Amino acid sequence: MLSTATHVPTFQINKSEIQNLIQFIYKYEQILKEFGALKIQLHVDCKLALKKRPKNLLISTITKQVSKENKDDLVYSVQQTDRSNESIKQRAIIKDETDFWFKLRLSKNYRQLNISIVPNKSFFTEKKSHEYFDIHRIPKQSLLRIGEKKVISQCVPHVKRANSPGAIFPLSCAKQHLSSIDYHHEGGNHQWYVIPAYERKALETLIKKENLSVCFDHGNIFIDPLLLDKNHIRYHRILQCPNEFVVLSAGTLAQSFTEDTSWSESIDFALPSWIEEGHANASDLSCGCDTSETSLSETIDVNLFQPELIQKYIISCLYNFTAEESISLTGLFSYF
Ligand SMILES: [Zn+2]
Repeated sequence: MLSTATHVPTFQINKSEIQNLIQFIYKYEQILKEFGALKIQLHVDCKLALKKRPKNLLISTITKQVSKENKDDLVYSVQQTDRSNESIKQRAIIKDETDFWFKLRLSKNYRQLNISIVPNKSFFTEKKSHEYFDIHRIPKQSLLRIGEKKVISQCVPHVKRANSPGAIFPLSCAKQHLSSIDYHHEGGNHQWYVIPAYERKALETLIKKENLSVCFDHGNIFIDPLLLDKNHIRYHRILQCPNEFVVLSAGTLAQSFTEDTSWSESIDFALPSWIEEGHANASDLSCGCDTSETSLSETIDVNLFQPELIQKYIISCLYNFTAEESISLTGLFSYF
């Protein structure tokens, strides 16, 4: 173990709960916010609307690398590389977290990210019945439904590929500080590091102290967790295996590496706190990063999300108690 940072809580979801995944996540929102993320495992009765031949995708590897100026640096910067034609040597499978960081700390100068991101592609088919989980339905179940078709149609899934063991997804935050769901389709495990939104200020102060001025949202840096340990910045780990979902809270910063080649997919969504706690307005739109690889669309107009519409959404879409829960709530109230 590198540090004492704990893993985020894991929840099991069943066949009926997965049909309204947003409602399930909302129920555990306080925990989600505290840890910055949750992990969800599927009960065997959950059915996914997966395509039969999902990997027929045209992918190009992102030509970027991580590098550090000095041997002892704990923040790696991500830079464009012209080594697009250089064949990437077959890397050995990463045994565990210690193995990954040991190799990275030893590596000289630079290391290719070795990832691909394919916007507007999915492993899920939109044609199956509602008994089958389809990731495309997530934005519409979420607060974004207030923005109707104009907003929902902007939130499309993207497929992510780790092209080798030890591939790196650098530090980033979902578009406009939305929440997101990441589905691990197949391949090596992903090791995540998540920094909750309330620790962002402390991280900014720390990185500025190191004389670096960077945008945290768009994959410009990769942080050695030793830096977070040394400076008491709260973060959590997630070990994500195939068929598991990682849910990131609004404004959470996340980075990961993979133990082997893998396929995964993610999509953005919103809970009421995205507006109510000011995440929607907090994203820095003037950072000047080139986000063409990951970001698809224009900024969502936050004025669409009026308080009375948010309340209506909460009551009609998030508070759908089952008969059993209503009884237990009645019991709770009579107790008091
Ligand atoms: Zn940026």
